[in-house]
Parts: sequence; C-alpha cells; structure tokens
Amino acid sequence: MAGAVDAQEYRGARRRLVALLQDQGIRDLSVLHAIDEVPRHLFIPTAVRHRAYEDSALPIGSGQTISQPSIHARYLELLRLTGHERVLEIGTGSGYQTALLAKLASQVFTIERIGSLLERAKEVLQQISVNNVSFMLGDGTLGWPEFAPYNAILVGAAAPEIPPAYIDQLADGGRLLIPLGGRDEQTLHLFTRNSDTLERKDIAPVRFVPLVGKHSWES
Ligand code: SAM
Repeated sequence: MAGAVDAQEYRGARRRLVALLQDQGIRDLSVLHAIDEVPRHLFIPTAVRHRAYEDSALPIGSGQTISQPSIHARYLELLRLTGHERVLEIGTGSGYQTALLAKLASQVFTIERIGSLLERAKEVLQQISVNNVSFMLGDGTLGWPEFAPYNAILVGAAAPEIPPAYIDQLADGGRLLIPLGGRDEQTLHLFTRNSDTLERKDIAPVRFVPLVGKHSWES
C-alpha cells in the first residue's frame, strides 16, 4: 500500500518536472514522453531520493553524479532519435539516461568504469523491464568496436579532446555529443559525421565529471 502511495506521489512530481522542461523549451514529444515514463527516483540513492524530480544533479556514490534532468532532455533532443538507432553511451552512471535512451532508440550499448555503479544500474533497468541494453564494465575511451558503427554516441563525462575510437565507431550521418575542455569547465559539442568530415556545433558551457581512461585524463 505504501509503495502504491509512493508511486502515485512520484507520478505527480514527474508530471511537474515534464511541465518544467516544456517551460524551459524542450519540444521533442518523444523525449518528454520518455521522461514522463521513466521512474527517475529508482535510480537515485535513498538518502536523496526525495529530490529525484528536482531539476538538479545529485550524488549517486563513488564520487559520481546523475546529471540534472534538463541536461538529459537537451542531450536527447539534440540527438533527434527516431527509434531505429544503435546508440553507444559512455558513462552509465545511475543508468537513468540509459533507460531514456532505451525508450528512444532500438539498441543501447553502455560502458561504465565503476563496477558498483554498473551493477546497480543493471538491477534497476531489469526491475523496470528494459531489455534492449548491453552493458560493459571497462574503459569507455576505447569505445565498443564489436558493435560499431553507432548512429549516436553520447559521452556523459568531460574529455580534453575526442578519443579517436569515437570517430572510428560513428556511422556516416551519426551524431556524437561530448563535453570538451578543461577538468573544471567545458563546452558541450555536437559533431555530425559526413563521410570523412566532422561537422561541429558548439552547444553550451557545461560542467561534467572527468572522463577517466587511456584516451582522456588518466586516473
Ligand atoms: N548519465 C549518467 C546518469 O544518468 O546517471 C551520469 C553519468 S556521470 C555524470 C559520468 C559517468 O562516467 C560516471 O559514472 C563515471 O564513472 C563514468 N566514466 C568516467 N570515465 C569513464 C570511462 N573511461 N569509461 C566509462 N565510464 C566512465
């Protein structure tokens, strides 16, 4: 019974979050619908769960954070997914963005370097019956060559420059979203591959945790 009351309470909070995102200019109905459907509170540690539907980044353990919902919404809107894509996500974190991607694309491949986060994300995604996601524990700066090319690559952590694997593994016409810059401040870039060239668009200043690995900053 308490669970049903909780679910109802969270449902109202989620509706208000979707309305807030619309007010902020998010227009893609499939993105708004995915945010309305995915129970973000399940991806948030219990100590801060009451804040799950605020537009805030929150701690998820191991020194990492789940990004604020408006960042996720903006990211996903920029990718213009139609439901047929194969997507590579670097930095599974809580698994929340993975769940949104699983609703918006055909197949999701996600890589996380911290085992405890990956295990927790797998559990929650299984709990909510998401079954089009493949998980890898490892260094996401190398990409995941076995399943390339990808129609979209999303990097949820900041790098000094693009790891070469992402260019090699991006399909023609594919989109790469990555925060590039220094450890403390970066610019979110959207790259689109046109045969052998990459078209670059600068989106916004952002602050992400560092991408740690062979082709980024070492730990
Ligand atoms: N989008 C995630 C969510 O919805 O919770 C949050 C991602 S969090 C901002 C960035 C994640 O990238 C962290 O979990 C971190 O451990 C991971 N990360 C950093 N470097 C990585 C690497 N080389 N390979 C895979 N994951 C990495």
